[in-house]
Amino acid sequence: MSPPTILQEVFGYDRFRGAQAEIIDHVVAGGDALVLMPTGGGKSLCYQIPAIARQRAGRGITVVVSPLIALMHDQVGALHEAGVEAAFLNSTLSGEAANAVERRLLRGEITLLYAAPERVTTPRFLAQLDSLHERGQLALFAIDEAHCVSQWGHDFRPEYRALVVLHERYAGVPRIALTATADAVTREDIVQHLQLQDARQFVSSFDRPNIRYAIVEKKDPTQQLMRFIDDQHAGEAGIVYCQTRKRVEEVAQQLCQEGMDALPYHAGLDPDMRQRHQDRFLREDGIVMVATIAFGMGIDKPDVRFVAHLDLPKNIEGYYQETGRGGRDGLPADAWMAYGLQDVVNQRRMIDEGEAPEEFKQVLRGKLEALLALAEATDCRRVRLLAYFGEESQPCGNCDNCLHPPRVWDGTDAARKLLSTVYRVQQQSGISFGAGHIMDIVRGRATDKVAQFNHQKLSTFGLGADLSEAQLRSVLRQLVATGAVAVDAEAFNTLRLTEGSRAVLRGERPVLLRESVSQGGGRRSKSRGDKAVPVVAAGLTGAAQQRFAALKAWRAEVAREHNLPAYVIFHDATLASIAALAPQSLRELEGVSGIGAKKLEAYGDEVLRVISA
Ligand code: ADP
Ligand code: ZN
Repeated sequence: MSPPTILQEVFGYDRFRGAQAEIIDHVVAGGDALVLMPTGGGKSLCYQIPAIARQRAGRGITVVVSPLIALMHDQVGALHEAGVEAAFLNSTLSGEAANAVERRLLRGEITLLYAAPERVTTPRFLAQLDSLHERGQLALFAIDEAHCVSQWGHDFRPEYRALVVLHERYAGVPRIALTATADAVTREDIVQHLQLQDARQFVSSFDRPNIRYAIVEKKDPTQQLMRFIDDQHAGEAGIVYCQTRKRVEEVAQQLCQEGMDALPYHAGLDPDMRQRHQDRFLREDGIVMVATIAFGMGIDKPDVRFVAHLDLPKNIEGYYQETGRGGRDGLPADAWMAYGLQDVVNQRRMIDEGEAPEEFKQVLRGKLEALLALAEATDCRRVRLLAYFGEESQPCGNCDNCLHPPRVWDGTDAARKLLSTVYRVQQQSGISFGAGHIMDIVRGRATDKVAQFNHQKLSTFGLGADLSEAQLRSVLRQLVATGAVAVDAEAFNTLRLTEGSRAVLRGERPVLLRESVSQGGGRRSKSRGDKAVPVVAAGLTGAAQQRFAALKAWRAEVAREHNLPAYVIFHDATLASIAALAPQSLRELEGVSGIGAKKLEAYGDEVLRVISA
């Protein structure tokens, strides 16, 4: 069978996305490939279709190496649903179950075998691969999440380095390595450590056009979050990231009190409970997972409709990876972040107080500053994100700044007043003061502290009487973000001038700020009291909405029976298409995207029955 036929018959899709066709042809023909594609780009088909094609051509099995043990069961389940023979080997299987898989493997009954890296390189497993290889029954190696080989990334797995044995031992068997990590250093590491010098490299654009980016000023973050979810994502699945375990617990609890299905997820939970929360998130509709930043590779499913950051990630790579978990099914998703002065102070402090050598800290500061510039930006967020990854682009029309161009005000003057006040109080009193007091002086407020230190005598006292505290606060935030003023954590968070202050004081560096008006990013214009319509069902008529709801209820039952997540049975988008089309026959149903031959046979009649009921 040709790749386009497999795409249609097995997976029920009409056309390849992006570079899929080229990659698949190259690998089917026996070439090595290194695939760099963003999350949601469709990497799985890049090895699944070659595996099926090569298996049908009599070349045997494909071994898929993946570190995501928690997802293997569902990945294999999804292939079964599509009628593909697949199995997995990892530490969650009993010895007996693992033996059974190995017997099927040697009998050639499996098309794709998923295995953890530490398993693949055991002498026992290699002996089995030897036996398959001798019989010409090793079709392909797919190395997923290949960036785990790089010690520069956050997911370094030493076991990945040992995978080079696959090349040394089975030189003629093609390999495909895949990752969503974009930078050049990681790519170089993959090539070197997996000996992929001769592999063809396929580098896709890292744009995720269906993700809408918005960054709002942090005021009352939990309230802002609840309004954001209520207005735009009621009842939909999402991920909320917080800095600390304590915050994760608090936020999850508050969301639950508001009647949402929210679950905490962090490294401090006992493993059973963590597993249970992950299972519920994957299997049930509309769960909000509240997780610590940079934790949880496993909380991954295609229909996550929003990713919210209540605290700042460490850098743009982290932000992009975390927000990339939204909208993997290609439907619209939101990446929303609340950001404020305290975030900037905290992140800077964590770097300053860390154990790393000074050189390394400089790198970390540079990365943080790039993220802060993104947060402070008043122009297209996507242009900046992609530029960070070395891609040029035009304003996107799908971020907060493109959709609601912020009114910008020039805060340069206000910034100079703040900075000269910082300078003058130090001169006059010989000590530094915190942000609150400095702002009071600029605004000319006669507080007790002002009287105590005689600060009403300063020449800057009351110079900014026309400015609100909120305005001054955002000026200050940008000054801290850009390093034009420092917050001294060891001296009660007092402010201190830096090298960078001079350019601002001299008026050489403008300080441009968005006028803080709304929360930004309102997607739907709807009258108050309307419940938000889920994004997939947005285009459906009333009757179709009802069919959609009925189909979802039916799917939930099937998913429970099969012990699989709902999206593995059918994606939301597939159900929405069926609901809109209201097919009367199997023939009509057959054309819907996401319904392959096996699913049509297994579920076609039931779907028609649900529709007609
Ligand atoms: P990645 O591993 O790159 O994050 P996946 O392989 O999980 O992405 O694919 C993301 C989603 O897109 C999956 O739900 C998959 O079924 C779907 N998909 C992939 N390729 C196509 C295609 N050619 N047509 C329609 N849907 C596709
Ligand atoms: Zn934009």
